[in-house]
Amino acid sequence: MRLSRSHEKVLKRAFTSILAKEREEISKEAKQILGNRSIDIFFDWLSRFYAGFTNTIQGELLSVYLLMAESLKEQVDEEENSTQGMTNELITFVTSYVTVLSSRHIGQSIVQIKAALSKAGEQGSNLLDSLDETFQTWESDRINDEVSEETVRATNAITKQSYKEVGIRKLQWVADDDPCIFCQSLDGKIIDINGSFVRKGEEYQPEGAEAPLKPSRNVSHGPLHRGCECTIVSVHETITL
Ligand SMILES: [Zn+2]
Repeated sequence: MRLSRSHEKVLKRAFTSILAKEREEISKEAKQILGNRSIDIFFDWLSRFYAGFTNTIQGELLSVYLLMAESLKEQVDEEENSTQGMTNELITFVTSYVTVLSSRHIGQSIVQIKAALSKAGEQGSNLLDSLDETFQTWESDRINDEVSEETVRATNAITKQSYKEVGIRKLQWVADDDPCIFCQSLDGKIIDINGSFVRKGEEYQPEGAEAPLKPSRNVSHGPLHRGCECTIVSVHETITL
C-alpha cells in the first residue's frame, strides 16, 4: 500500500480549517478574559470550549476520512480480488478513529496553549502575544507535522482494517525509502494481523541502535516515530504439506 499525496492534500485542507477556527474563537475570548482576569479563568473557559469543539473537528473530518477509507478499501479489494466495497464495519471503524484523533488533537492544543501562557505568566510577558506566537507555530510547523503523521497513521490503520475485512490474517512491515535503524530492522517483519510489530513498553533495540525505543502503545503499523512513512502489506499464507 502506497501513501497517497492526494489524501495528504485533503487532510491539509481539513486541518487548516480546524486550526483557523480554533485560533479565531480562542483569540476572541482571550482578548476579553486575559486582558483583565486571571489565567486560571481562561483555562476553565478553554476546557469548556474544547469540550464543544470536538464536534466541530469530527464534523470537519468524518466525511474526509470516509472518502479516504472508500478509496483505500477499493485498492485493497482490487489487490485481494474482493468485491466487498465499503462495509458498515469500516464506517464504524473510521467513526471511532476520528473520535480518537479529535481528542488527540485537542489534547495537544490544550497542552501547548497552557504551556505558553503559564510560561508567559511566570515571566511577566504579554499573555496575548504569547498566545499569538503559539498560533503562529501551529501555522508554520504543527499543521505540516500533524498532517504528515496523520496521513501515514490513517492510511495504515484503514488499510489494516480493510485487510482484516477481506480475510487477510498476516501483515508485513514495509520500510519507507530512507528508513531509520528501527524501521529498517522492522522491514519485512511479518505478524499476525491482530498482533504488534513492537509491543507496548517493549525495549526495542535493533543492532546498531544507540538506545532502545520504548513505545507507549502496541505498534501494529507506522508511524513508529515522528517522520516515519513506513507502510504495511498483506501476506498470503501458503499451505505447506
Ligand atoms: Zn518508519
